[in-house]
Amino acid sequence: MPDELLERLQRFTSEAFPTQRSLFRHLVDDGQHPLTLFIGCSDSRLVPYLLTGAGPGELFLVRNVGAFVPPYDQSQGFHGTAAAIEFAVLNLDVKRIVVCGHSHCGAIRALYGEVPAAAQNLARWLELGREAALPVAEPGAEVLRRTEQRAIILQLERLMDYPMVRERVEAGRLTLHGWHYVIEDGEVHVFDVSQRGFVPASRAENAGTGPYQPFWPGPSGDGAAGLDASGVPAGA
Ligand SMILES: [Zn+2]
Repeated sequence: MPDELLERLQRFTSEAFPTQRSLFRHLVDDGQHPLTLFIGCSDSRLVPYLLTGAGPGELFLVRNVGAFVPPYDQSQGFHGTAAAIEFAVLNLDVKRIVVCGHSHCGAIRALYGEVPAAAQNLARWLELGREAALPVAEPGAEVLRRTEQRAIILQLERLMDYPMVRERVEAGRLTLHGWHYVIEDGEVHVFDVSQRGFVPASRAENAGTGPYQPFWPGPSGDGAAGLDASGVPAGA
């Protein structure tokens, strides 16, 4: 039986790599300088490079079940996502952090069901989305969509608890972006605080402002203060 994975590896070296050899050489000599930290769900249908048209060296990626951001609790455990956030912000000095959830997310659906008893780590991890869940037993498509979007806002808010993130956002050196990728439509909906909801990228005026944009000239002039996960409107 042919080893399909091995064949793919061989094809990369013989066919794909030669077309980008000089780019990789440059990225080795000059190091990586990605401007974006992309926190995405692990779902196989979410392909950050396709969505953004990014190439090598452009995205610093961290992916996990649900695209969740753990709390900055200083418990000093083996916190992979937190470590990636710290590295991206403090070492790489990224200018944007994208939190990208998506339609038909299994992590979000699992908030309304049960996970296998043996999946203790998964059960605990899903608690990071619990606040986004709505009080219904049998969620329909609309409830799931809203929960997916609320979970994204929740993670953006949690990012602001990281001192190095908050400091840079407040100084205007870092922006936060909430994205909801609708797989079946092939379109990302970006959270736009001035619209108080998610807007399809085709109609959006920017790539998402996050819930905290101190320079947003809102109607009351007070920016996005007060908008939280519960403030995400239905639909969008
Ligand atoms: Zn997912």
